[in-house]
Amino acid sequence: MRPFRDISIQRKVTLVILLTSLFALVLTMVALLVYEVFVFEENALKNLSSEAGIIAVSAQPALDFDDKNLADEILSRVKANHQIAAACIYDKDGMVFASCVRADLGSYEFPVPEIDSHRFEKNSLLLFRHINSGSDMIGQVFLRYDLESPFAALPHYAAIFGVISLVLLVIALFFAAWLQRLISRPILELARSAQLVKDRGDFSARVPKYSEDECGQLTDTFNDMLDALQKGQDELARHASELERRVEERTASQRETIAFLESFCYTIAHDLRAPLRSMAGFAAAIVDDYGPRLDEAGRHYAQRIIDSAQRMDRLIMDLLVFGRLSQQDLTFSALDLNAMTQKVVQTLGDDIQTKRAEITVQPNLPEVWGNNAVLEQILTNLIANALKFCHPDSRPRIRVGAQTTTNGKNVRLWVHDNGIGIAPEHHERIFRAFERLHSNNEYTGTGIGLAIVKQGVERMKGHVGVDSASGQGSTFWIELPRAEAA
Ligand code: ADP
Repeated sequence: MRPFRDISIQRKVTLVILLTSLFALVLTMVALLVYEVFVFEENALKNLSSEAGIIAVSAQPALDFDDKNLADEILSRVKANHQIAAACIYDKDGMVFASCVRADLGSYEFPVPEIDSHRFEKNSLLLFRHINSGSDMIGQVFLRYDLESPFAALPHYAAIFGVISLVLLVIALFFAAWLQRLISRPILELARSAQLVKDRGDFSARVPKYSEDECGQLTDTFNDMLDALQKGQDELARHASELERRVEERTASQRETIAFLESFCYTIAHDLRAPLRSMAGFAAAIVDDYGPRLDEAGRHYAQRIIDSAQRMDRLIMDLLVFGRLSQQDLTFSALDLNAMTQKVVQTLGDDIQTKRAEITVQPNLPEVWGNNAVLEQILTNLIANALKFCHPDSRPRIRVGAQTTTNGKNVRLWVHDNGIGIAPEHHERIFRAFERLHSNNEYTGTGIGLAIVKQGVERMKGHVGVDSASGQGSTFWIELPRAEAA
């Protein structure tokens, strides 16, 4: 059973009214009973006193003349009153002069006389009255009066009490139903509205006011609060739309700036590459046409010009790819890794041949969800690095494979090589732009290849990483959504 404090207000009010009514009823009944007993005893005493008075007056001559027969005759009159169980006349010495006992009582021992007193004993009232002759007390009258128990009428009272209680409870129930509506209805309305506000976040609802009491004040306060919240919400919505408008404006202007910068960079890159190509071309021409006439140092310088120009060209190209990757809107589709790997291996064919590299591609690679051009660029960079970062004396052995991850949502594509490996402390930094672990003399490069890989993977909502140790080869991996799961 739920404790009283947890039941609904409606029930609480009804219960309180019913219990109070019941309590009042019981209290009234008890008071009535007490009063009834009191009145009953008072009446009995009054009746018995007058009866004793009459006997005392009549018994005076009997005592005066020591006429026992007269005394017996006087007492025999009380037999008519069935409630007088025993009566006697004492002489002035306190000895029983005449007596009369109701038959059902058998023998009765009369008490020692007490002048003009009475007492209640069990269910009887015992009363003593003096008998005077002139101013002298010549004897006493004793009467024992059987009280019909006042509680004898208890079943009768209980029945009346039961009927009245029932009627009163029904009335109280109706009254409670009406009264509780008066008290609990505004509170219930408030609770319902508060719930609505919480569930729907709708501050426009208002609670009707039923009275000017504390419930009415509570309703007013609640409605005022809703007003304030509504205003706050409107204000917030206004600010949000203003903010949205400003963001849209800024985004548009930023797009314009980016578009301008992109075309600017593209033009600059294009313009920069032209003189670079000329430099490299002319330096190559010097080596080709005038090589024999140049000494060793001259040829070396010319070659360095060619190398530097080519390196600069590659750097510009890489930067353009990197820059474009962060801005470009990407379209996604299911990509066939088998075909893509084959294409990349073909593109890198010359390098593979020169280095006599051995490339093994795992058959039946799963499909991934991503952007075709970006993934191709990533795969190219990883395989190109695997070819490049190999010990000069050893033959590159590269394996490409992929498998679905344990949660079934992604595909992990990996490129494993037997190259120089990477110490664990560099695993993170090599993915940052321009981070290189070797000088250009050892291994050529721009330091942007892996930054492009990371940027591209993240734009396709994937992850990238490397497992490697110095001198132990490397396994670069990327994780992309599985085509079927996307
Ligand atoms: P780049 O190749 O132009 O140097 P990357 O960004 O592709 O630039 O690589 C950054 C650095 O990470 C490289 O300079 C190299 O030190 C290291 N690295 C990348 N791939 C490998 C690999 N397969 N084996 C060993 N080291 C690698």
